[in-house]
Amino acid sequence: MTTTGPAVRSTVHGYPRIGPDRELKRAEESYWKGAASAADLEKVAADLRLDTYARLRAAGIDDIPSNTFSYYDQVLDTAVLFGLVPARFEDPSTAADADGRLRRYFALARGVQGAPPLEMTKWFDTNYHYLVPELSPGVRPRVAGDKPVAEFREALEAGYRTRPVLVGPLTFLLLSKAADDAPEGWSPIELLDDLLDAYARVLADLRAAGAEQVQLDEPVLATDEGRAALAHLERAYSVLGGRADRPEIWVSTYFGSIGADALRVLKESPVEAVGLDFVTDTEGIADLTAVSGLGSTRLVAGVVEGRNVWRTDVPAAVATLGTLLGLADELTVSTSCSLLHVPIDLDAETSLAPELRAALAFAEQKTREVSLLGRVLSGEAEAGHAAAAPADAAFVDARVRARLAALGADAYERPQERGAPTDLPLTTTTIGSFPQTGELRRARAAHRRGELGEEEYKAVLRAEIDRVIALQEDIGLDVLVHGEPERNDMVQYFAEQLRGYATTENGWVQSYGSRCVRPPILFGDVSRPEPMTVEWITYAQSRTEKPVKGMLTGPVTMLAWSFVRTDQPLGDTARQVALALRDEVADLERAGIRHIQVDEAALRELLPLRQEKRREYLDWAVGSFRLATSGVSPSTTVHTHMCYSEFGLIVDGIEALDADVTSVEAARSRMELVADLGRRGYKRGIGPGVYDIHSPRVPSVAEIEASLRLAVSHIDAGGLWVNPDCGLKTRGYEEAEQALRNMVEAARRVRSGL
Ligand code: GLN
Ligand code: ZN
Repeated sequence: MTTTGPAVRSTVHGYPRIGPDRELKRAEESYWKGAASAADLEKVAADLRLDTYARLRAAGIDDIPSNTFSYYDQVLDTAVLFGLVPARFEDPSTAADADGRLRRYFALARGVQGAPPLEMTKWFDTNYHYLVPELSPGVRPRVAGDKPVAEFREALEAGYRTRPVLVGPLTFLLLSKAADDAPEGWSPIELLDDLLDAYARVLADLRAAGAEQVQLDEPVLATDEGRAALAHLERAYSVLGGRADRPEIWVSTYFGSIGADALRVLKESPVEAVGLDFVTDTEGIADLTAVSGLGSTRLVAGVVEGRNVWRTDVPAAVATLGTLLGLADELTVSTSCSLLHVPIDLDAETSLAPELRAALAFAEQKTREVSLLGRVLSGEAEAGHAAAAPADAAFVDARVRARLAALGADAYERPQERGAPTDLPLTTTTIGSFPQTGELRRARAAHRRGELGEEEYKAVLRAEIDRVIALQEDIGLDVLVHGEPERNDMVQYFAEQLRGYATTENGWVQSYGSRCVRPPILFGDVSRPEPMTVEWITYAQSRTEKPVKGMLTGPVTMLAWSFVRTDQPLGDTARQVALALRDEVADLERAGIRHIQVDEAALRELLPLRQEKRREYLDWAVGSFRLATSGVSPSTTVHTHMCYSEFGLIVDGIEALDADVTSVEAARSRMELVADLGRRGYKRGIGPGVYDIHSPRVPSVAEIEASLRLAVSHIDAGGLWVNPDCGLKTRGYEEAEQALRNMVEAARRVRSGL
């Protein structure tokens, strides 16, 4: 296809910050330990920024973004830029020099003695976490830093006139929370006008420094809340756009379409460009058509997926862009969102199967796709490769498909009459993992490197299981676990054993701060060649008379923390994973395991941003859990675990999972969920976490007892389980043991009073 027409430009919304070798992580962690100075860290950061600009230029990207770098998180950067720092971090003794500023910045993110950190939560429906600004009516946004300007200047000196990127004012305020001291009913959006003044100052400073464009990210427009904030949107961009001393304003949206109403507001606002996502859903073109195109407002078209690892189908993208050329006079090709969410370079992988590699593109490859698309649309290049779809024969397993197709409705149902899980009220248990000791980690690393043989490694794991079982018996827990010592990660462990999944060597992406994860790639039909956990659970069971609970990671969580194929609906993929888990569940049961837990830590996380898409999601999410678990006999107890407490949204979903026991986070929300379930007449077991494992603090018997009494006042003690909030793998043995002893004692006291 040849296209003639206006010159089409190319850009990306952002690039990974961690560095090809996780240089940023290493530099930060050594700074935190005191082994490196602020200047050392700043040097690493500056080198990484310049390396990114050079990579983007080498890839042929026309318009290079800046201020996409962050030491920790871009939302935190925005709060600090505008001086929106809670008083507990204002330590007058902190020097105002670079070192002092960095210390305070990291204190906000990680906490210091006497000042707990800002809350951290997921960035929309991704696995990236941002820090939640705490705002109150008393604060006055002001320009309190110069990060965007300094990074612009740094780039300019190196020969790059970049487009600084900032979190937009609407997204910033809608993601912030009211501080505890804010009056009831007050909301951060009330700070909009003051904040706009401060944004306008930064825009003017950027203009003065030589910036021609600035990008304001408004992904919140892809959520129901953002879509409903039209008046604020209109206000924000008429104020910012109305200033004379400003660069061009590009408003970027991503993670879904924003709807014709918000698009109309942006089209009519005095902004020069609007970025839309044409990958995450298909409504972008319909929205543009509904507003009769963008006219002279530049369209930044996100057609290369920024948050998944598949190669772009170039001819299809060219066709989409061709349609878009009819809907806007000026077009820039882009990624659908920042490339923050994908690993940097496919070339760093040495052991992927060639058919799989041919289907993949990481950040580096995606920038080249974007640039190619820009040149094709400008008539300077021929349309290149189609996606090497993972539907290729190498990825298909006819047996898996036939098995799934043959399943009847009964494969998703358990009989409603079931045996009692235990004969105790307030049964005590844990969520699965026990502390991962240094010794364990060292053994795993040595085993990976081939320095520790299979049998020696297994002996280390068995010794750890012996220790965990003996400890639990001594503490007096009722339903025991094996402690998960064989698992590096609850998803990776299974991905390594399932067919249809691949793992990478260097595919790191930032999860939060310096913490990176290496999501496995679910590329083909999934099956289970061999049992995955039976050896460990049965070994643990052989060491005790008490029941040992088997631990599996559920289908939704297996998808949420992986890069997943997009050539078939997620629900179909989830059911394939479920079928593999169903076989594992059957093997565990056959081996005499009477309690089986299928963790769905991420059930809430994959929930679509918009209400209208949620029912369909919950249908397949619940269906796949039930497929995984419903093969068991009525006397086997199915447990599930979830890691958060805002259940309002999915309480129906939780009931529909039909697990016998559901453990959840509750310690920090004062058992609200239990009260809710009580009101609804929930009839299965519930294990509201009675203490917060995210903190090293050991809870007292009295405080756990008080939580339990509160829970018992809402629901029948027979259905109440007693457990911590989550797994113990990030804690030390000493605190974990003491906390569990206190928990068991608290349960005993409440039980005896029943
Ligand atoms: N069973 C897992 C563990 O205990 C659950 C972890 C999680 O919910 N994130 O570690
Ligand atoms: Zn958890």
